[in-house]
Amino acid sequence: MDSILKISHLGKSYQNAGRTLVVLDDINFSISPGSTNAIVGPSGSGKTTLLGLCAGLDRSTTGSVELNGIALDKLTEDERAEVRNRNVGFIFQNFQLLPTLTALENVMVPLELRGEKNIRPRALELLDKVGLADRGHHYPLQLSGGEQQRVSLARAFSNQPKILFADEPTGNLDAETSEKVEGLLFDLNRDAGTTLILVTHDLELAAKTGRIIRIKGGRVAEDIINKHNA
Ligand code: ADP
Repeated sequence: MDSILKISHLGKSYQNAGRTLVVLDDINFSISPGSTNAIVGPSGSGKTTLLGLCAGLDRSTTGSVELNGIALDKLTEDERAEVRNRNVGFIFQNFQLLPTLTALENVMVPLELRGEKNIRPRALELLDKVGLADRGHHYPLQLSGGEQQRVSLARAFSNQPKILFADEPTGNLDAETSEKVEGLLFDLNRDAGTTLILVTHDLELAAKTGRIIRIKGGRVAEDIINKHNA
């Protein structure tokens, strides 16, 4: 397969109080397996919307998304969830951990959903990988922002995703913690070959990836391959 993600003529509009807001208009690109990619652009340009469509969290208005060879647009909600469970990791800017579950239980949820066995030791192993083996019994509110983001990384890694989408993964973190989270993401790419697609306003982070796709006014304004990292 020469692309793990193929976006063709993708468009997304929202209806608001009888008016149509066109957020994305005719977006086209293909992503190579094992590559690292950044999506950048001004606030409100449609980056989060685009990430959600690529990951199958939302459905496009026009055009198509092919993820790991599967056309998402023709699938039902349940079928899309199944494709996500099997192929995709997603990291949200605001972590989206379940507040009533401990760190360990948050990581166990996707393992349980997939019907895996021995999920507690496996979840502990994942927490250990992000340096939080001793925080398993803490609830999200008892953890710092950086620790919560690392729990969400452990959760996103749990299905050994072929492709990981991260929406401003370092957006709410201090410089030192950002570096730690970045390290974990690039380790995953190097060690497991996981394709990375990061939405970020941090141009230093974007420059560490192999490709920068700039979105402006709902279109691809620039698409630059960084040969040094690609
Ligand atoms: P970015 O991530 O680049 O800041 P977003 O994708 O979050 O941009 O948003 C792009 C535009 O789409 C914004 O104008 C936002 O208000 C609008 N938008 C996003 N989600 C919805 C929604 N569910 N309903 C209506 N408008 C939305």
